[in-house]
Amino acid sequence: MKFANVIVDINHSEIDKVFEYSFTDENINIGSRVIVPFGNKLIEGIVVAVKNTSDYDQSKIKPIYKLLEEIPALTEETLGLMEYISKSCFVTKASALRLFLPSEMRKGKIKDFMVDFLVIKDDFNLESGLLSIKSNAVKQKELLVFLSENKKYKISELNKEFGQSAVKGVINKGFAYKISEKMQRQPYKELSSKGKSVTLTEKQVEALNSIENTNKTVSLLFGVTGSGKTEVYLNLINNVINKGKTAIMLVPEIALTPQMLSQLRTRFGDNAAILHSGLSAGERFDEWWRIRNGEAQIVIGARSAIFAPTSNVGIIIIDEEHDGSYFSESNPRYSTLQVALKRAEYNGAKIVLGSATPSIESFRKAVMKEYNLVRLPERINKRPLPEVEVIDMRSEVRRGNNSFVSSALKTELENCLNNGNQAIIFLNQRGYSKTVICTECGKVQKCTECDVSLTYHYEDNSLLCHYCGAKYKMIDSCTECGSKFLRYGGTGTEKVVLELNKMFPNAKILRMDRDSTQTKEGHFEILNKFSKQQADILVGTQMIAKGHDFPKVTLVGILDADMSLHFSDFRSAERTFQLITQVAGRSGRADQKGKVILQTYSPENSVLRQAINYDYESLYRNEISIRKATAFPPYTDIVRLLISSEKEEVALETTKQIYNELNQLYLENREDFRFFGCMKAPIKRLQNKFRYQILTRITEDNFALIEQIYNTSVKYQNKNVFISLELNPNNLS
Ligand code: ADP
Ligand code: ZN
Ligand code: ZN
Repeated sequence: MKFANVIVDINHSEIDKVFEYSFTDENINIGSRVIVPFGNKLIEGIVVAVKNTSDYDQSKIKPIYKLLEEIPALTEETLGLMEYISKSCFVTKASALRLFLPSEMRKGKIKDFMVDFLVIKDDFNLESGLLSIKSNAVKQKELLVFLSENKKYKISELNKEFGQSAVKGVINKGFAYKISEKMQRQPYKELSSKGKSVTLTEKQVEALNSIENTNKTVSLLFGVTGSGKTEVYLNLINNVINKGKTAIMLVPEIALTPQMLSQLRTRFGDNAAILHSGLSAGERFDEWWRIRNGEAQIVIGARSAIFAPTSNVGIIIIDEEHDGSYFSESNPRYSTLQVALKRAEYNGAKIVLGSATPSIESFRKAVMKEYNLVRLPERINKRPLPEVEVIDMRSEVRRGNNSFVSSALKTELENCLNNGNQAIIFLNQRGYSKTVICTECGKVQKCTECDVSLTYHYEDNSLLCHYCGAKYKMIDSCTECGSKFLRYGGTGTEKVVLELNKMFPNAKILRMDRDSTQTKEGHFEILNKFSKQQADILVGTQMIAKGHDFPKVTLVGILDADMSLHFSDFRSAERTFQLITQVAGRSGRADQKGKVILQTYSPENSVLRQAINYDYESLYRNEISIRKATAFPPYTDIVRLLISSEKEEVALETTKQIYNELNQLYLENREDFRFFGCMKAPIKRLQNKFRYQILTRITEDNFALIEQIYNTSVKYQNKNVFISLELNPNNLS
């Protein structure tokens, strides 16, 4: 008999320890998923250690009830990562563990995908077979001929081709029999493989060599949009695979995964697997096991694919590394790079961060020589970056144009469409109008659960809360004063499409935002249509800003370039720059010159100026000096404690208590704190919970202090008040 330490799948701080069980099954190993008795229930768990002896009274140790799979789901590496996430993100081991397993697997719901085949018998003789069939049973005869050549075939397809009765007939006559076999569910089956093989440019070869030969773990591939970064990634992956290692390639949006998968499949065939939350449960399950079994050596996915069960990782590529989606905004609040660094350390792997607009933090690390800086300063074939024309919307309004389309953009759209080219119109607001306002009393419609105004959605005539997802029926009169005079404030993508339809009745227009991509392969369908030129204009939110490569796009219109500029977030300048550069980069990627029309109410703004000139390094110099002077990241770490409760007094009272206790810590460590304060959160109420926050900015990489802050505050958590700690949160709302 042996003994196992098991983590049970219950996310509760009081159960956050290992429990000991006994077993005799030799297949049980470290990392195995098992079912164990817990209390009076049976529950899933994972074996984290195996021992020959136990310190406990052996008669009291319960045996493991069942082993779930022979292959351990977790490896030594992923178990270590799980421990690391649990410690550094302040979550239970069970909660960290869930990152590593497809959720469907945990609940044991997924069944193997079985397919029925018709198989011809070994001793079948075609001549005598055909003779024994009635002459008018033509389909049966055809089927027999077909089957005697193919031996084994999918029944569903034979049914279609020869008819069910023919299939039944040959079974009944004893010529063939049915078998069921386990098959792989393959996501994006119909994905056309795209991509020609290209010879790398000299610059690309230099970049490749630099990344492979550097003694630094992380390389920052700083290359303008269209400079051929993807081709460098593919070559890096190829070289790693040839050494028998594996690769993880991350992109910021699920929407970008099919495009990348298509390129990977072209080159590596079934060796590439995809993992993201948009797949069906069965597909994800099968892809996950293909990776775990080593059948697929390349993983492509969004953030969570960093937890893929690959062994012997050789390279981790994080494309568009500056993107906010690489930070998890719910527990466990991990940063993808932080996990990647751990995996790289364990495997001796390299990390590549790619971007045309690196985050200020990453670029600083490159400047400080912590990262290997690799540049691709030119587009492939030296195509120029698109020319950006700035339109001052204030003067449009003065000239009497109240439309959100400036006259310049209208003219350019006409030219673009007349030349048979395509255009992209960008606006980072989904829905029809951002708000609905009563013109009589000024009441803005708000969510009953959140302190947030509701967005009007034209398609289903509803008011939607973009924070909690609550949906309300559209009103026809003000809920406050009953007035029928309602005004729509702020434009969304739906309205843009409707107006462009009026302006260009012959143009086909597609819309891509979170609403139009609800279905499983929604993103894929829209992008596919657009790339096949079944539409002329693509209107969309930030979903369309990144990565996509549409050769026929020669015009990009940015409707409201200032939108993100006026957020009171220390990253707003950086974000605006990134967004404009990314969207603009969609234009003129192939042979024809591209153009960008950028509409703004503050044309003199320095960040817009830098973006227009693609002057990242000016932006960097400005930003880094501001961050230094104001003690913001990367010169400090922001630690935010969010205290939320359904009762406002409870949230407020708890905040005060924590603040008072932390004040002691603050006074004792005066030199480590650059800021310490408490206040209401910018969104005061969310999903019916009142939110308060304690904000601190402390010296960099001071984990001991962060831990003290956490331990001090988490004591106050109970069933009425929830406390979470965020380190350098991406979103401070
Ligand atoms: P990035 O990822 O830097 O935005 P891409 O890798 O998408 O750029 O490359 C832009 C375009 O240039 C793509 O259409 C790609 O196929 C093409 N391309 C990349 N490298 C080469 C090369 N060495 N020769 C010819 N075309 C290339
Ligand atoms: Zn009113
Ligand atoms: Zn809401």
